[in-house]
Amino acid sequence: MMGINDDQRARYARNLLLPGFGEAGQERFLRARVLVIGLGGLGSPVAYYLAAAGVGVLGLLDFDVVDVSNLQRQVLHSTDRLGMSKVDSAARTLADLNPDVRLELVRERLTRENAQDFLRPYDVVVEACDNFAAKYLVNDACLALGKPFVTAGVSEWSGQALFVVPGRTACLRCVVPDEPPAPAAPFGILGAVPGVLGGLEALEALRYLAGQWTPRADGAGLLHVMDGTTMRLRTMLLPPRCGCACRVKI
Ligand SMILES: [Zn+2]
Repeated sequence: MMGINDDQRARYARNLLLPGFGEAGQERFLRARVLVIGLGGLGSPVAYYLAAAGVGVLGLLDFDVVDVSNLQRQVLHSTDRLGMSKVDSAARTLADLNPDVRLELVRERLTRENAQDFLRPYDVVVEACDNFAAKYLVNDACLALGKPFVTAGVSEWSGQALFVVPGRTACLRCVVPDEPPAPAAPFGILGAVPGVLGGLEALEALRYLAGQWTPRADGAGLLHVMDGTTMRLRTMLLPPRCGCACRVKI
């Protein structure tokens, strides 16, 4: 047992007070390794809340640099960091927030060839990218590795999020079997929308790490759907699709 020290007892006091959590729960967080793929609108709240909660090792993967048009939603970054790598900008913000967290920085683009090697060392993966290709790539790599992951997408005023445990719950390809075509033109995104969906992604990851997650006997996943124009947030049961590559046994 590693135990936690007095500084950690103070920092994580509100975690420790959670029913059924306590020091053992915090130790689980501190031992955990989570990879955040994409440090934009979704990845910002994800990385903030995972670092604040005291996840021991946080992997940060992104190939892009900070652009002024990112700042209306990508709240990890700031105006004095235009042109800086998003990984470096995120690392600076998160190190200021919680020096307890060890950051592993990957300034690379995820590909079919490298994905499994980047994902393998982590307990949970959070997909927080802005394109379908990356979402399907992460889905397939996590299925191949048997790695739990959270995935989400946002557009304009709405978004969805899904937590997947390979072999136990339905996956992204159970919802939409084949990767949709990329949108022809840029679309709007109100920043608070990825704020909500990224928050849900962080919560799904933390819930799993805290030991609060249990599989359903029917293999259904929970698909969270938010419509910000009507302020409806619904959670739908997503059954495994017969013949899907995820091959959930029920
Ligand atoms: Zn599936």
